[in-house]
Amino acid sequence: MTSIAIIGAGPSGLFAADGLTRKLPDARIDIIERLPTPFGLVRAGVAPDHQGTKAIQRQFERTLDKDTVRLIGNVTIGSDVTLDDLRGLYDVVIFAAGAPIDRHLGIPGEDLTGVYGSADFVGWYNGHPDQANLAPALDGSGAVIIGNGNVALDVCRLLVKTADEMATSDVVPAAASALQAMPLTDVWLAGRRGATDAAFTFSELSELGELARCTPRVDAEQLPDAIPEGLPPGDARMKEKTLKTLQGFAASAEDKPITLHMAFQANPIEILGAERVEGVRFERTRVEDGRAVGTGETFDVPCGLVVTAIGYQTPALDGLPIERGVVVNNGGKIEDGLYVVGWAKRGPSGTVPTNRADSLSVVGEVIADLGDTAPSKAGGDGLDALLADRGVRTTSLEDWRTLDAAEQARATDDHPRDKFTTVDDMLNALS
Ligand code: NAP
Repeated sequence: MTSIAIIGAGPSGLFAADGLTRKLPDARIDIIERLPTPFGLVRAGVAPDHQGTKAIQRQFERTLDKDTVRLIGNVTIGSDVTLDDLRGLYDVVIFAAGAPIDRHLGIPGEDLTGVYGSADFVGWYNGHPDQANLAPALDGSGAVIIGNGNVALDVCRLLVKTADEMATSDVVPAAASALQAMPLTDVWLAGRRGATDAAFTFSELSELGELARCTPRVDAEQLPDAIPEGLPPGDARMKEKTLKTLQGFAASAEDKPITLHMAFQANPIEILGAERVEGVRFERTRVEDGRAVGTGETFDVPCGLVVTAIGYQTPALDGLPIERGVVVNNGGKIEDGLYVVGWAKRGPSGTVPTNRADSLSVVGEVIADLGDTAPSKAGGDGLDALLADRGVRTTSLEDWRTLDAAEQARATDDHPRDKFTTVDDMLNALS
């Protein structure tokens, strides 16, 4: 039987596993995950107030339930086992570990206390064990969010939503309390290009107009009268709806306790402050051929918190060629027997379902390359022996089900779950 290891139990790995079970029903697939919990960004990236998006977990559960699939949790590639170990044990290895670290602005002041990348900040309120100790500085009345993508909008909502608005979310309770206690009056959302260049999508933007205690404000002078010409019809419709929504924000006379200032053509050039952040210096831009070009005019925004939401990268790993934060690959193939899917393959773009087609295309490559090759490797039995030999405590699908039930059982009020936020807590709950 062909043996396949998938590194990472997030959406791209699970879509790949599902495709493989359909095309190669006899293959044995081991999904090796660093945490005892599966689902990657669906659990710890998707905003906790977007429970509808998280419903895809039910489909992933069905994939994990298949007889030929195993979830092996609490195993770190690079320390518990190496990529080379896996390549020696499995006929095919698919890297699906995403792009979990933040891109950097590369400007002065980025290391000041109070400046966080969205991978860290989102991971913190979503209960990712890597960020359990983040304890962000939330005592200021002003916050700046840098970036104009959907992650930036997620962070905005989480900062300004009331406890009532978060009642059915699975935000981590301690993070929720810290966010609610913040004396916030002003949030700036800064995009380096123009309003119609923004990467956020219409439905996420509209949500900002429906918040209980926050009014989005846009300077009408920053909005064009019309969207650019020549866009494909689908894009044009979306951009028109986006522009209309922004024009509505600009015309609104609402005045709620928190103001969300949407600033376009504002490129951050320095984070200000001595030890902790006190503000951000922006340079006004003009957009030329789709690029933000500095005008030399600057302005400062005072704040005690900065969250950058400017994209993610895949960290270095022995045996994995990485350039500019993405694994070097050709249609998902890295080398014979080694493949990559998801954000590690194509960079941090697209929604959860985008990964389905992407992973299935790589599954097609895997199957074509396998051809009639006879399986020759030790597979899962070999991995089990190696991990036992190294004293690695692994977790299983059953263990995840136990954690899942425990998280749901300890949830209060209308929250769907109260997450374990450290691996130790998870392992203790399993003991
Ligand atoms: P994104 O959509 O690529 O947006 C990144 C933003 O950062 C852009 O506005 C970009 O500006 C800006 N940026 C990049 N480098 C910068 C720099 N050096 N200085 C200033 N600004 C900079 O990425 P994302 O928001 O992280 O989202 C990742 C993917 O997940 C996207 O495909 C997104 O749609 C998806 N997602 C979807 C949802 C949802 O469907 N609800 C929620 C969250 C995420 P430029 O455009 O000028 O480069």
